[in-house]
Order: sequence, then structure tokens, then C-alpha cells
Amino acid sequence: MKKRYDIIIIGGGASGLLLLANICNKVTRPTSIAMINTGHPIARGIAYSTSNENHLLNVRVSRMSAFTDDTNHFTNWILSKQQYSEYHSDSLGECFVPRKMYGHYLDELYHSIISDQSKNIDFNFIDDVVIDLKKSENTFTVLLKKSEAIEGVKAVLCTGNQPPITLPGLSSLKNSDRIFINPWDEKAVENINQDEPVFIIGAGLTMVDTAISLIDQGFKNKIIVLSKHGAIPMPHPNERVAVPHSDIVPPSDLHKIFSNLKARIRSAIDNTEWHEPVLEAVRPYTQKIWQELSIEEKNRFMRHINHRWSKLRHRLPHQVYDFIQALIDKNQIELYAGKLISVEENQDGLTVEFFNKESNSIIKKEAQRIINCIGPEGDFSKVENPLINNMLASGMIANDALSLGFNATGDGKIINKQGEIVENLFTIGSGLRGILWESTAIPEIRVQANQMAAKVLA
Ligand SMILES: Cc1cc2nc3c(=O)[nH]c(=O)nc-3n(C[C@H](O)[C@H](O)[C@H](O)COP(=O)(O)OP(=O)(O)OC[C@H]3O[C@@H](n4cnc5c(N)ncnc54)[C@H](O)[C@@H]3O)c2cc1C
Repeated sequence: MKKRYDIIIIGGGASGLLLLANICNKVTRPTSIAMINTGHPIARGIAYSTSNENHLLNVRVSRMSAFTDDTNHFTNWILSKQQYSEYHSDSLGECFVPRKMYGHYLDELYHSIISDQSKNIDFNFIDDVVIDLKKSENTFTVLLKKSEAIEGVKAVLCTGNQPPITLPGLSSLKNSDRIFINPWDEKAVENINQDEPVFIIGAGLTMVDTAISLIDQGFKNKIIVLSKHGAIPMPHPNERVAVPHSDIVPPSDLHKIFSNLKARIRSAIDNTEWHEPVLEAVRPYTQKIWQELSIEEKNRFMRHINHRWSKLRHRLPHQVYDFIQALIDKNQIELYAGKLISVEENQDGLTVEFFNKESNSIIKKEAQRIINCIGPEGDFSKVENPLINNMLASGMIANDALSLGFNATGDGKIINKQGEIVENLFTIGSGLRGILWESTAIPEIRVQANQMAAKVLA
């Protein structure tokens, strides 16, 4: 007989853990839970398993608590740890601490849950790959790669970011060992040769992580960075700027929102030199605004505004920004805006050809490797995750209209290929990006985890 659980959590990164922790806080009757995870360390997931002390959180300590109803939980945890005493100060909440420290926090939270299971929770962690999910009547059957299938009444997909599997336009070079399609694979920055440049595609937060990893191992050669717009993310202010009383009533018209925000950002920059207050004031409304936009407007946003939004919204801690800017100033990072044209592999390395917008010319560069930092893959037809592949094929899941993740309702109920809600199948986290837009960072995930916990316990 297959073991049967009340709740099955698929994916054990930060989203899966926050959901588990919120369930444990709310549970009032005996409940059995299975969590299945593979690939990345339990609780830490992709983001918080880095061992590099210079990979910092890009969200301030005060906003990184695992719980919406205990917003000082992370701050107090740091204060309780002697090993982090260098961070103990009145301004701790405003700091950007190492992601490794946040991983430690999540890890401890996970272990506190499993060592302190109340009599109401019967928890089982399964280290395995979920390869498919089948539904019959009121039961999900979860097929696993190594172990026997299990059954569940409710299932939550916490499968996180899907790594890309090809370099856009260059699928033929997929198998070259000089091309690192998945930037979160540690091999991408291992065995670096000091004598030749490294070529990075993408100039966002993942590029910044990668450049830091290269420099931290003493890499002195060039880091050539190519992105569509050739701009790195903006910095956070040193200290948080007060958020003005928000009278931003979001109209559901992209043009009006854009001009409204542009004017406000200009005036905020005039007054405080920072755009942060405006973005902070808008953030609580972002999901609502996004859901009210038409598909055409969402597509227009993706084509024309997304790069500006991302540059402002996904900011860097100022010390990280200064570090990267210094590398650009001394020309160790060569930053180009343009488009990749071709990559040729020869005995000595790669010849990369790209169009450079600024000089309006084609440039050729030699490099030892390419690291793809353009971000996760949202189009499920292009990912290599057996669960996603099989569920897509069976029609139990479908891409949202923009192919950024799952088709689902705003509160995380999965919608199948036929456009129907799949009863008792849910998701939280970055898979909801197409539906909510703002759905990848802890401040959003913890809200979803809190609400989803209530839903799966109902
Ligand atoms: C490099 C990086 C830095 C970030 N920094 C910050 C930050 O500073 N602050 C912030 O708020 N947010 C940050 N984020 C956002 C981040 O996405 C979330 O904070 C959070 O880590 C997402 O967790 P997750 O569990 O949804 O996804 P993941 O961490 O991707 O975890 C998903 C887990 O599910 C597993 N899984 C997937 N499919 C299967 C399957 N079929 N079978 C079994 N297991 C499966 C995966 O292997 C993985 O272990 C960062 C993201 C990245 C990538």
C-alpha cells in the first residue's frame, strides 16, 4: 500500500520551508506532511546555498523574516547568535547580510521543525526527484525516481526557479564544456584559467554574483559582459529613505502607470536623490496592478519597460554596487549593450561575435568560457524537470499567457491546460511570476506561504 499524506510539498527550497513552517504554526489537528526535494540543499535552495560570504542578500534584514506575523524573527535570530556579533547593532535591520547567513537561518528553522514535531504533525522528508503527479478522484499519486510512489490529498508545487537549458539562439553549442548554461551550477566558476577572459551574458544580479565569485578566487583577467541594455542594477541607498505617504492609486492602464511613476521617481530623486521611496510605496500594489493589466499591456511592459523596472527594482546593496562599478571603472569588467551573434569553439577557446549598440558595430572577443546569466527559464516547454515536463504533457499544468511560469489563480490554485482549476493542487513562489509579477523574493513568498498554509489545512 502506498503511504498516504494529507499534504505533499514538492520542492524543499525557501518556499517549501516557509510553507512547512507556517503549516506547523497553524496546525490544530493531526496532519501528515511529506516534503520531497532534490538538487539543492534542503531549506537553502538555489539562493541560500552559496558559501561565498560576499554574496549578500539584496533585501534588508528587517524584511527577511520567515513569518509575516513575526517580522523581527530573522533580526532576533541574528541577535541571538554570538557568531554574528559583528552585525549586532541598532542598524541591523537596515543591513544586507550574507545569503549564507540566511541559509543558516533557514536550515536552523527546518531542523527546529523536525526536532520539535508537535503531536499534530507527522512529517517525512524524502530525498528524491518527483517525476510525475497523477490525479484520481480525491488523491494525487506522486511518482518518484528512486523510491516508491506516495499519495496525497493536497499538493503544493514549490519547485522554484527553473534553470535555463540553452543559450538563446545557440542551442547547437549546448554540449560544449566551455558553455555554462546554468549559472547556479558551481562548475560555472570552477577551474578558471587566469590567462583568458570570461564572457558573461546578462548584466543583472546573477552576473554580479558570478563576477564576485570570479574575483574572489583571484581572477585578474577581463570579464566581458553583454546584455540587451548594458546596464547593471541600481544600488540601494546606504540607509533606507523614508517612504512618503503613499497617494499612488494605481490606475489599471500601463501608459498612465508608467508616466505617473516616471514623474514621481523624478521628483523623489530631486528631493532625496533616491527612487527607492517610490518603488517601496508601489510595491504593495504591484501584484494588483499586474493582475489588472491586459495581456497586451503585460506584453508591452515586457518589451519596453521591464528592463528599466528590473534595474530599479532589483537593486544591489551599495557596497556590492560600488565593488562592481569599480571593476567597470578600471575596465576589468567590459560592459556592452547589444546582441549575441555567434560563438565558435576552437582548440584554444571560444570566439564570441556580438553586435555592440553603442558603436553600432560587430565586435569579436576571445574567451575561455561563456556563463549564461540571463536568468531562470519560465517557459515550461524549455525546461529539463521531469515533473514539469510530464505534467505539461498530461495537461495538468500549463504555462501562463506570458510563459513566465504556471497558469494559476492569484492565490496559487493551479489551472490546467483546459483552463480549469485543479482541485487541491497549488503553487507558491517564482512559478507565479506571470500571474503576480512580484513573486520571487522572501517578502512576497512569506505572505503566500502564510495564506497557503491556511488553505491546505482547511
Ligand atoms: C541567486 C539568487 C539570489 C537571491 N537573493 C534573494 C535575496 O537576497 N532576497 C530575497 O528575498 N530573494 C532572493 N532571491 C529570490 C529567491 O528566489 C527566493 O528568495 C527563494 O530562495 C526561492 O525559493 P524556492 O524554494 O521557491 O526555489 P528554489 O530555491 O529554486 O528551491 C526549489 C527546490 O525544489 C527542488 N525541485 C524542483 N523540482 C523538483 C522535483 N521535480 N523533484 C524534487 N525536487 C524538485 C529544487 O531542486 C530546489 O531544491 C534570490 C534568488 C536567487 C536565484
